[in-house]
Amino acid sequence: MLDPFGRQITYLRVSVTDRCDFRCTYCMAEDMTFLPKAELLTLEELDRLCSAFVAKGVRKLRLTGGEPLVRRNVMSLVQSLARHLESGALDELTVTTNGSQLARFAGELKAAGVRRVNVSLDTLSAERFRDITRWGKIEPVLQGVDAALAAGLKVKINTVALRGINEDEIADLMTWAHGKGMDFTLIETMPMGEIDADRTDQYLPLSLVRSRLAQKYTLDESDYRTGGPARYVRVAETGGRLGFITPLTHNFCESCNRVRLTCTGMLYMCLGQDDAADLRKPLRASADDAALDAAIDEAIGRKPKGHDFVIDRRKNSPAVARHMSVTGG
Ligand code: SAM
Ligand code: SF4
Repeated sequence: MLDPFGRQITYLRVSVTDRCDFRCTYCMAEDMTFLPKAELLTLEELDRLCSAFVAKGVRKLRLTGGEPLVRRNVMSLVQSLARHLESGALDELTVTTNGSQLARFAGELKAAGVRRVNVSLDTLSAERFRDITRWGKIEPVLQGVDAALAAGLKVKINTVALRGINEDEIADLMTWAHGKGMDFTLIETMPMGEIDADRTDQYLPLSLVRSRLAQKYTLDESDYRTGGPARYVRVAETGGRLGFITPLTHNFCESCNRVRLTCTGMLYMCLGQDDAADLRKPLRASADDAALDAAIDEAIGRKPKGHDFVIDRRKNSPAVARHMSVTGG
């Protein structure tokens, strides 16, 4: 699949549910209205959609959400998608999770053929964790991380850099992650969906975080890539990898290789744009994939050049109306 700007689309992210057991302040409003269950694609339909993308050249699939591991029976989807790993059609099947259910699922994920998981964690303090997630408990997440490592999964910790909330803890999070042999990636907040807080207050440019870290640590440039948008450095003192996802301070759209599918079958060609293609209709219209394939081709043919995220006091509304949990980040 080649888009109008010559970018090859090889990476599909799938939000398997918009629901979540947390309400992270930068991600969701406290009183979110979730989709009625009847609107969701079944796991079999999600499998068929993902498989259509794999047949078209997607080499990497990431399951996300909402919280993917709270969707009932999600492991049956993981296990059935794993056939594409066995056949060699897919290089990688990964999961992004808040970790709350990971202790329960780590072994099964590994057994199914998942090699890496991303765990989102913005603090190591139980109290801060509760504040950031509005009610989450940190202990199960830390147990989930340990269970994943014990199961032999590679774990990457993703942390959203939040001004005045966790900026004093970033070095500690990094050394904790590196101490356990995990990669550590920082993310800038993106203006997606109405939340209860002011994003201008939360936004912390990673250029600033990086220069602060560079005062204490030696950050060696690295050309390591995982197929995602993160740029990495190697931290000499810890021996670990530190990634930066900087949609605001450094736009990475020119190398974008991915599209995003929601749990209702909408395909978003760009995280930062509203345009989407309805794949549920062609999926349900017929048992063969001809109409679905044509709809996918048409959608890829209108993938936009990039996003125009701005966080600034003069422009208070989000760049896109939907929350990150719809397309899964
Ligand atoms: N619930 C899972 C989790 O938290 O990892 C998967 C879905 S979550 C939407 C995926 C990632 O997006 C998380 O790392 C989260 O911190 C990040 N995220 C959510 N809202 C964001 C925003 N407005 N800006 C930047 N990152 C965001
Ligand atoms: Fe849930 Fe993940 Fe959003 Fe937090 S970031 S509310 S864990 S979907």
